[in-house]
Amino acid sequence: MVISLKHLYDIVGERVELDYFVEDSKLNEIKGYGFSRPITIKGAIVNRAGVVMLKYSAAFILHACCDRCLTEFDRDYGFDFEHILVRSLNNGGDDEEYVITESDKLDMDELAVTDCLLQLPSKLLCKEDCLGLCPVCGTDLNQNECNCNG
Ligand SMILES: [Zn+2]
Ligand SMILES: [Zn+2]
Repeated sequence: MVISLKHLYDIVGERVELDYFVEDSKLNEIKGYGFSRPITIKGAIVNRAGVVMLKYSAAFILHACCDRCLTEFDRDYGFDFEHILVRSLNNGGDDEEYVITESDKLDMDELAVTDCLLQLPSKLLCKEDCLGLCPVCGTDLNQNECNCNG
């Protein structure tokens, strides 16, 4: 979803509600992660005293593969995000709170996907104390014991 920001930038008090799903086709492009469902986006973009604020929450179910035992699992995630939208940054700061928009348009899908991926750990485990696979015989130590370690 691409949102036109022209009115939001120009009119103090202007507000746009966000309540939609990021299409599956956008999610398929993300390598290494699977999504069992579209990402639900809920929030609003508001011009408050000339500052354009984006606040939203993103909810999704990630389909992942345990980094230790290779079991596949689904997990619910929900994150809240806040950004200030600007046409340009004068002070050269690159605070990730700021989002610089081109041509007064915001690619909300791209922003949401980027925000969500930044929150995810680089390694996903099926459970905190996953025992993983035996490095010698490959037995899933969550399910069975093996005799490799005596
Ligand atoms: Zn595991
Ligand atoms: Zn073993």
